[in-house]
Amino acid sequence: MQNVHSHAWDQQLHFDPQTVRETDLSRGYPLDLTVPFETFVEEMAPFERVAVFGMKARLNGYWVPDQFIAEFVARAPDKLVGFASCDPTQDGYMEELIEAVERLGLRGLKMGPMYAGFDPRDPRCDPVYGYCQRHGVPILFHSGTTFNRAAPLGLTRPWLFDDVAIRYPELRMVLAHVGHPFCEECLVVIRKHPHVYADISALYYRPWQFYNILIAAQEYRVTHKLMFGTDYPFATSRESIEGLRNANHVIGDSPLPRVSGETIEGILERDSFALLGIG
Ligand SMILES: [Zn+2]
Repeated sequence: MQNVHSHAWDQQLHFDPQTVRETDLSRGYPLDLTVPFETFVEEMAPFERVAVFGMKARLNGYWVPDQFIAEFVARAPDKLVGFASCDPTQDGYMEELIEAVERLGLRGLKMGPMYAGFDPRDPRCDPVYGYCQRHGVPILFHSGTTFNRAAPLGLTRPWLFDDVAIRYPELRMVLAHVGHPFCEECLVVIRKHPHVYADISALYYRPWQFYNILIAAQEYRVTHKLMFGTDYPFATSRESIEGLRNANHVIGDSPLPRVSGETIEGILERDSFALLGIG
């Protein structure tokens, strides 16, 4: 099994105090999001490979330096795949990206348009997308809603990435959380573009919504574009795997359509890193 979505950070060092307070909203109770390395590795036991990233988004008080991620993944280099972060609203973002990829050896990129306050189609992103396409660096975008008050919902709609994929057809992209709650919008974007995928992280704890996403993915015939992720520390590995395997529990014995075993095991067994070009 592989996990394309996990976070490493220290909330004291890398989050603004207001951001720490807002994280309580994510699950409805206070979370300590700081991720100690030992806890992280234990938590990731079910997975052979794990993508690890922080976030850079000045607008909403996140700033995890790429160096921190590089040092974190260097402690388990066979398993952990480090992703850089980029906030194109801040000076020096291209220099930081080039440094992260070429000197620190990070393999992918995480961007959070709504968190940082930019439209994914913003011209400031063009050097980033061009560089990543040329160097085979996949980009995982946060897509869908969040709990941070200052993050504009208008900048996170999945259809915005359609335009990026049209202009950068070889760029590998993952739209996180199937763009919840704009999930069908996300499914039709990944259906159009051979190199655009979605991850199902942090969805299982809304079981009715999660069930409907998986059914819609079956109906649109895009289940092969769904990747497994946990969004740890927002959700644990065990709960995320169980939540997927139990996706039909919410409908009980009703005659509603069922999420197939093929869909579920396909997501769990997918070689996502190979699809992203970092196999
Ligand atoms: Zn995340």
